[in-house]
Amino acid sequence: MAETTQTVTTPASLTGVGWCHWHKGIGEDVRVIQVVEVPSGPGGRHSACARCRERRNLIPFADQP
Ligand SMILES: [Zn+2]
Repeated sequence: MAETTQTVTTPASLTGVGWCHWHKGIGEDVRVIQVVEVPSGPGGRHSACARCRERRNLIPFADQP
């Protein structure tokens, strides 16, 4: 009886553990807060974890009007 110990790689596009631009570290339930548009480049995304969103009243980009 062999158990599967394969590591499931989560796509970066899904919400979950990721880089938080607010506390500059890995956070949980990271959501994109701000999309920075750069005319001559790929642009950037500023993401915040659940704790930082709560602390700074940040609204996820997808939930903004
Ligand atoms: Zn954070």
